Amino acid sequence: MAKVNLNYRKLSAGYLFPEIGRRIKAYQQANPQAKVHRLGIGNTTEPLTPSVVSGLHDAVERLAQVETYTGYGDEQGEEVLREALARFYSQRDVNLDKDEFFISDGAKPDAGNIQSIFSTTNLVAFQDPAYPVYVDSNVIAGRSGSYNSNQGNYSGFVYMVCNSENGFIPEPPGEKVDMIYLCSPNNPTGAVAKHKELERFVDYARYEKAVIIFDASYAEFISDSALPRSIYEIKGAKECAIEINSFSKFAGFTGVRLGWTIVPRALVCEDSEPGELHRFWLRRQTTCFNGASNISQSGGLAVLSKEGLSECAAVIGYYMENARVIREGLFDKGLEVYGGVNAPYLWLKVPPGLSSWEFFDKLLYEAQVVGTPGSGFGPSGEGYFRLSAFGHREDVEEAVKSIQDKIKL
Ligand SMILES: *Cc1c(COP(=O)(O)O)cnc(C)c1O
Repeated sequence: MAKVNLNYRKLSAGYLFPEIGRRIKAYQQANPQAKVHRLGIGNTTEPLTPSVVSGLHDAVERLAQVETYTGYGDEQGEEVLREALARFYSQRDVNLDKDEFFISDGAKPDAGNIQSIFSTTNLVAFQDPAYPVYVDSNVIAGRSGSYNSNQGNYSGFVYMVCNSENGFIPEPPGEKVDMIYLCSPNNPTGAVAKHKELERFVDYARYEKAVIIFDASYAEFISDSALPRSIYEIKGAKECAIEINSFSKFAGFTGVRLGWTIVPRALVCEDSEPGELHRFWLRRQTTCFNGASNISQSGGLAVLSKEGLSECAAVIGYYMENARVIREGLFDKGLEVYGGVNAPYLWLKVPPGLSSWEFFDKLLYEAQVVGTPGSGFGPSGEGYFRLSAFGHREDVEEAVKSIQDKIKL
């Protein structure tokens, strides 16, 4: 008799995006003429750039000829791409060996899978609010107790509250934890951790022999050169941190699929020697993964070329101009707005007296604008609301104008 993984039953009903869809549908049925503006999704909208497209084409052409056709490649990714990534980091004075990079089909799968190289008895800390895969993958692995629907949290996890008082960057936990997930620039809050703030986490992790799992998927959205784009800009981080990153938001690869994870050889934890965790992740990838698409990898190599980098920076600049339009428009409206300067997300404080979901309805019914209720990202997201800067400029401008003209605060 097969039995199920009971941890799946613990997962809180993943009702955020389906519930948003349901409410939009109900509104549209009642108001068939209304045009709904979507600022809710964290998905890229602008096309791939010319040199990236040509990198993808080249790979298809190679696959079309018997002389250049290739099948499976290295599970950890093509050497030329890992070398290019190592050079990309060295330009920021972060020196990593090409073999410390593991190319993957994206940051979300890696963020979900990385926990498998650690003991299920580890105590885990998360930023609250957070991108859901960190919490959910640890629930599935069995590191949590049950879900408390009143508090919107799981027993057995440590929640690091992010709010306007701490600038949405928490202090390290007051207790001893074993694993810490950090995301900077942050989805959903748009906050970016400074060197000093990351130093406190690295110091904590080295002292406690804990491991930091650092999601840097939005690093390329940082325009302030004083802010760290990699955890390895912090001294000592190679001994205590894994970094996960992606071409998704960097280069519009949300559908193409390509990411990378860095597991330094120097990484240690309480019961392990340097090198072992690196070998474990290699073992995990060679066992359960067969390598990222060779076409995607050729596209990724083109992203990292001189032209690719400048073209992708221009697309990011376009999204960040959207962010500026939203930020200034809402600020003029008198709303309390955070983020949107070095990250493509804006995090609004919901007007007094309203919950995140009540504000969702108000925005939809009064201004026909869709965003994401902050409470969907964790209990401390209650009272906040996420707007995304991904979208076409005219849609963004229409949405902001509609909020300015129609919302009564
Ligand atoms: C969008 C996003 C990712 C990207 O995941 P991919 O699987 O590479 O598309 C990773 N982390 C965060 C926080 C994100 O918002």
